[in-house]
Amino acid sequence: MVKSEYDIVIVGAGPAGAHAAATAADECDVLLIEKRQEIGSPVRCAEGVSKAGLERFFEPQQRWIASKVTRARIFSPDGTAVDVSEEVAGPEVGYVLERKIFDRDLAKHAARRGADVVVRTRATGIIREDGFVRGISVRHLGESLEIRAKVVIAADGIESQVARWAGIDTTLKPYDLESCAQYLMTNVDLPGDCSDFYVGAEAPGGYAWVFPKGAHAANIGLGVLASKLGNKRPLEYLNAFLDKRFSGGQPVELHVGGTPVSKAAPTTVANGLMLVGDAARHTDPMTGGGIVNALEGGKLSGQVAKQAVRAQDSSRKVLAQYEAAWRASFGKKLERNYKIKDVFVNLSDADLNKLVHSLQGLPIEELTIGGIIGRLITRHPLLLARLRHLF
Ligand code: FAD
Repeated sequence: MVKSEYDIVIVGAGPAGAHAAATAADECDVLLIEKRQEIGSPVRCAEGVSKAGLERFFEPQQRWIASKVTRARIFSPDGTAVDVSEEVAGPEVGYVLERKIFDRDLAKHAARRGADVVVRTRATGIIREDGFVRGISVRHLGESLEIRAKVVIAADGIESQVARWAGIDTTLKPYDLESCAQYLMTNVDLPGDCSDFYVGAEAPGGYAWVFPKGAHAANIGLGVLASKLGNKRPLEYLNAFLDKRFSGGQPVELHVGGTPVSKAAPTTVANGLMLVGDAARHTDPMTGGGIVNALEGGKLSGQVAKQAVRAQDSSRKVLAQYEAAWRASFGKKLERNYKIKDVFVNLSDADLNKLVHSLQGLPIEELTIGGIIGRLITRHPLLLARLRHLF
């Protein structure tokens, strides 16, 4: 089943790993490993993805889509809503996915392109020789194996250990981590075409979201900045939010998890190794969204891995093309949104109310939620001076 040697071994079959595998498998011998027994499950995601973001990579399949969302609303702490149409909210509205199906289809696609895909296979360490990562050790169905590779791609998500084993410090400070809790709720009545965001002390340093999932159901969750959790768990914040607004709803699934809202990893390449997706800290620090950047990082790392195999050179110098490529693609946006986060997480409810009020009725050219919040902040005279350099 699993060979002892591949051109490329990819750890983690989320969107980043599966897309890297699909990109490289037409030319190279690729192994994609996943520690869970089911790819795509459990879902630790609100499953929102922009239409433009998804369609950059695939023609969306009907079975991936739980809801189509054409607008978003932002609620301030005093309940004022700003209704944002699709042409304004653009990249932040689009689809609420069925990630159980989506992630699995991405892995199937990688397999159809020729990759070996294995589940219940956990990376337990790396093989290091002469300053290079030359493969990984795994537990595969109860057996310990060593698998050699010319290139290893760490797509092992927020808890990435592969990076740490290779000596790259990806530790997240509490200030750079959103602790999240989410229910899939049924028995909730919502406009099915709208994603809602609630900002303020109900989710300190983060926000609550309500994303429709088909008829009478929604992903309802929130993220609280870990440094602002106090002595409450995210689930307690979420239960309080639900009691206030969705007391008739019934949970059918509960998930807790974290999402990085940090700067990107200090480096995303080493000799023989690349980091992608959440492992590379590529989530948007403003919104916590990471699916599109995971797909983009997956594609770019797959392309560079192929070049390295072709050139028989997987040195850091060659793999640095991947780092340059993701920085050119979405690096600037990550940097800008980290600065916006820095301001946003410290706003009081009174500030947030003022900001949302000041937005009402204004023409808005900025197209993303991050951009809208950035724009809100620029409209606030007290914050303008602090933020002028961002825009
Ligand atoms: P993951 O999807 O986390 O995949 C990593 C995989 O690696 C996992 O399957 C894991 O089991 C596997 N793995 C880990 N360690 C090992 C190992 N040692 N050996 C083998 N396999 C291993 N993003 C959005 O764009 N929109 C949203 O609405 C959204 N909502 C979110 C809500 C919550 C509550 C959370 C926590 C995150 C949310 N995100 C959202 C972020 C998004 O889920 C991630 O950015 C995205 O899944 C990153 O993809 P990835 O492939 O890098 O990592």
